Amino acid sequence: MDATTITTWMREIDAAVRTERDHLVQLDAAIGDGDHGTNMVRGFEAVVQALEAAGEQPPGKLLILAGRTLVSTVGGASGPLWGSALRSGGRVLGDDPSFDGGQLVNVLAAALASIKDLGTAAVGDKTMVDALEPAVDAVRARIGDGASVADAVADAAQAAEDGMRATIPLQARKGRASYLGERSVGHQDPGATSTALIVRALQKAIGQG
Ligand code: ADP
Ligand code: MG
Repeated sequence: MDATTITTWMREIDAAVRTERDHLVQLDAAIGDGDHGTNMVRGFEAVVQALEAAGEQPPGKLLILAGRTLVSTVGGASGPLWGSALRSGGRVLGDDPSFDGGQLVNVLAAALASIKDLGTAAVGDKTMVDALEPAVDAVRARIGDGASVADAVADAAQAAEDGMRATIPLQARKGRASYLGERSVGHQDPGATSTALIVRALQKAIGQG
């Protein structure tokens, strides 16, 4: 995996959040303020443009640029959270021109740690962490068992989607949805939903590599 994996991943996220924009807006309208779809589309559109303008750069630098771009273009909670996640992930890679499965595990683990540090959410709080943490656990376990990166990330995408669906019966304890108390129960978390798209997009990017 190399810089192309990162640019393809960001393009796949951009395409996925565009396709799912209205769905993400509806989910956020139910338990938040209805801007999650537009936030994600605005952010990843800007990321794709920034990466195109940046030209040839090592993959870690591209991730850092992507993170910075999200922070500066997305006003909602998801911008700083995913922005710091991608920046932390990028720092793991330094200036390396390519990376392997073990490094990918470290990138994703750093991204998760950064989201948890900044947002102080744990699994079960009905946030993006409910999708991302099981995905990181899955990829780490599969790479540890000697699976291919493609198989490991396929399992991670499945785990993220399972985690996303598991947010439906939960009561939100972080973010805007927590203001609703028990009324947040019965709705799928928008940030967990876009996170599942982000992990599925990584699988697509790796499949093209
Ligand atoms: P906002 O809530 O500011 O309008 P978005 O609508 O873009 O921002 O994003 C909402 C999503 O952000 C939620 O569905 C949730 O997954 C995630 N989120 C909110 N607060 C936190 C937090 N403290 N930690 C982790 N994720 C969070
Ligand atoms: Mg919102």
